[in-house]
Amino acid sequence: MPKPIKTKRCNRCKKIKDFSEFHKSVDVKDGMQRMCKICNKEYQKVYKRTYRKTDKYKTSAYEYRHSPQGLLASREVYKRNRIKKLSSACVRYKVKIGKMIHPKLLKCISCINQAQEYHHHNGYDKKHCYDVVPVCIVCHNKVHNPIT
Ligand SMILES: [Zn+2]
Ligand SMILES: [Zn+2]
Ligand SMILES: [Zn+2]
Repeated sequence: MPKPIKTKRCNRCKKIKDFSEFHKSVDVKDGMQRMCKICNKEYQKVYKRTYRKTDKYKTSAYEYRHSPQGLLASREVYKRNRIKKLSSACVRYKVKIGKMIHPKLLKCISCINQAQEYHHHNGYDKKHCYDVVPVCIVCHNKVHNPIT
């Protein structure tokens, strides 16, 4: 009895081909790759090209971060975060030494709930560092993320 020739349809070129036209693969049920050898070669070429492109993209992002504009932008973010932290620390300190009422003893200015924290309604600038209003966490989040 002659051995039946096993064939398989290539997933890429859609041609029915002999098993010998496919590479072996342990991931697939029949032990053969979904693509024929020719298609696989093509696929690898394309894959490599796209991969190199993303690699290049990564490099350009890296270059931006280390360029004068990139460094300036990250320094701005850093400065803003630092001022924000400083202003919050000022308020926290005043609360601690009893010069300011703890926000939890106050009512939220936007709803009827108990406040949880202070919001810097005039921004985090040093001259406004004590310009704060008591807010609950929900309202505070709303102020800072109006869309969500
Ligand atoms: Zn094929
Ligand atoms: Zn509220
Ligand atoms: Zn705030």
